[in-house]
Amino acid sequence: MSKIAIIGSGFSGLSAAAYLSAAGHEVHIFEKNAVPGGRARKFSTPEGYLFDMGPSWYWMPGVFEKFFSDFGYSTTDFYELKLLDPSFDIVYGKKDVMRIPNNYTKLSELFESIEPGSATKLHKFMEEAEYKYITGIENLVYKPGLSLTEFADLDLIKGAFRLQVFSSFSKHVRHYFSNAKLIALMEFPVLFLGAMPQDTPALYSLMNYAGLKLGTWYPMGGFCKVIDAMVKVAENKGAKFHFNANVEQICVDGNKATGLLINGEKLPFDGVIGAADYNHVEQKLLPVAYRNYDESYWERKTFAPSSLIFYLGVNKRIPELEHHTLFFDESLFDHSVEIYKKAKWPTKPLFYVCSPSQTDNSVAPEGHENLFLLMPIAPGLEDTEAIREKYFDVMMDRLETQTGVSIRTNIDYKRSYCIKDFIFDYNSYKGNAYGLANTLLQTAILKPKIKNKKIKNLFYAGQLTVPGPGVPPALISGKIAAELLNQHLNHTLN
Ligand SMILES: Cc1cc2nc3c(=O)[nH]c(=O)nc-3n(C[C@H](O)[C@H](O)[C@H](O)COP(=O)(O)OP(=O)(O)OC[C@H]3O[C@@H](n4cnc5c(N)ncnc54)[C@H](O)[C@@H]3O)c2cc1C
Repeated sequence: MSKIAIIGSGFSGLSAAAYLSAAGHEVHIFEKNAVPGGRARKFSTPEGYLFDMGPSWYWMPGVFEKFFSDFGYSTTDFYELKLLDPSFDIVYGKKDVMRIPNNYTKLSELFESIEPGSATKLHKFMEEAEYKYITGIENLVYKPGLSLTEFADLDLIKGAFRLQVFSSFSKHVRHYFSNAKLIALMEFPVLFLGAMPQDTPALYSLMNYAGLKLGTWYPMGGFCKVIDAMVKVAENKGAKFHFNANVEQICVDGNKATGLLINGEKLPFDGVIGAADYNHVEQKLLPVAYRNYDESYWERKTFAPSSLIFYLGVNKRIPELEHHTLFFDESLFDHSVEIYKKAKWPTKPLFYVCSPSQTDNSVAPEGHENLFLLMPIAPGLEDTEAIREKYFDVMMDRLETQTGVSIRTNIDYKRSYCIKDFIFDYNSYKGNAYGLANTLLQTAILKPKIKNKKIKNLFYAGQLTVPGPGVPPALISGKIAAELLNQHLNHTLN
C-alpha cells in the first residue's frame, strides 16, 4: 500500500481518489476550500435557496453510470435523474423561441418545419455524430495522450476521416444545414465549452449527439448530489478528506515527489496527483526545473471562456421560464470573436439562464424561483463591480422582455461571480471557467501532458489536461491519472 496525495477535490480529484483508494492505496485529498466539488460546489442562503455554483447540464449519463458501476454502485444508489422535457429553450428574438424536445422524432419534425429537407440531413448528421461519440467516448477519451502509438490499434488512418479530426466544426454544420437558427442550435455546445466553431474539429459534433439524442438530465437535489455521491464512494473506499488545506509546494528529491508542504508542514507521500488547475500546480507548486511547461506556453494556449455569473433568488414563480434557456438573440459569431480573438467585454452578449426550481422544489423556498445567469467572456478581462452590474442590467432587460415578467423588483437574494472569484477560489489561470478550448491544436496528444516528464510519481488531472473541459471529461481524467500512478507504483514495488 502506498500513501498518495491528491491536490483538489473537484470532479477529477474525486474520481482519482476513488480509483486509487479502490486499488488499495492510502489516499489523502487536500482541498483549499472548506467544501468539496471545486467548480461544482454548492452554497445555500439564509433565505432558503440552494445554488449549484457551476455545472448545470448533465450530459453523457453513461459516463457517470460507468464511474459508479466501477465501484459496484449505480447512480440510482445516490440520486434520482430526471430527463428534462423540453431539453432547453433557445431565444432567437422577442417572443421568437425554439423549444427543443427530448424526443428525437419530434426534434426531426421541428427541423423539417424550419428548413424543409433538414430532417433527413439531421438523421445523417446524427449517424456520424453517434459514430464519433461511440468511438470517442468509449475509447479515445480513455487514452492518456502520451504518444501517437496509443492510437495505432484504432484503425486511426481509416477512422480519422470519419472522426473528422482535421475538418472544421463550422463547415461541417453548414454542410448539412443553412438555416441560421439550426446552425446556432448545433454550434452552441462548442461555444460554451470552448472555442470558435471555425477552430473546433468536426469531431466534436459528438456533443450534438450527446445533447440532442442522449438527452439533458437533471440530478434531483442539484448537480451537487453528484459531488456528494462521489465523496461517499471515495470515503467508502477509505479516502481521507482534508479541507481548508491549501497546498503550498510539492516537495521533490531527484526524480521523485516526496511530499507536500501544507500550512508550513511537510507531509510525506509516495505519489501525487495534481487535480487543481494544471498551470497553478506547475507554476506555483513546483520548482522551475521540474515544470513541463513555462509561462509562455500557457500564454500561447487558447483558453475556454471565463464567465460572469449571477445567482438570484426571486420571491415569486416565473412559469414563463423553462429549466434551461439560451439567449441567442444576438450574433453568435460576434460574441465568439470577442471571447476568442479580440478578448474584450462583449458588445452584444449571448447568455444562458438556468432555473432549476422549475424541476426541483428543493432548491428554492415554496413560491420562489432559483435563477442562475451565465454570460461567457474571455478569460483575463478587467473585472469590476461596475462592469458586472452593467451586464446584469443587459441580461435582465432581455430576460424581463422575453418572459414579460418584472423580475428585478422581486429579487431577494443576489450574488455575482466572475474572473476575480475564479482566481481567488480555484487558483484558476486568468480566471478561466472551463479549462482549455477544444481546438485542433489542443486535442489528445497536443494537450498539456497528464504526466510530469521529470518527476516519475507526479501526474495531473482535470480540465486542463486530457481529455478536456466539462464534467464527464474531468471524471475520466481522474481515472486515467489514477491508473498511470497506480501502474508506476506497482512497477516500482516489483
Ligand atoms: C460556471 C460553470 C458552469 C459549467 N457548466 C458545466 C455544465 O453544465 N456541464 C459540464 O459538463 N461542465 C460544466 N462546467 C465545467 C465543469 O464544471 C468543469 O470542467 C469541472 O468541474 C472541472 O473539474 P476539475 O476537477 O478539473 O477542476 P475544479 O473543479 O476546479 O477542481 C480543482 C480543485 O482544486 C482546488 N485547489 C486549487 N488550488 C489548490 C491548492 N493549492 N491546494 C489545494 N486545493 C487547491 C480548487 O479549490 C478546486 O476545488 C462548468 C464550469 C463552470 C465554472
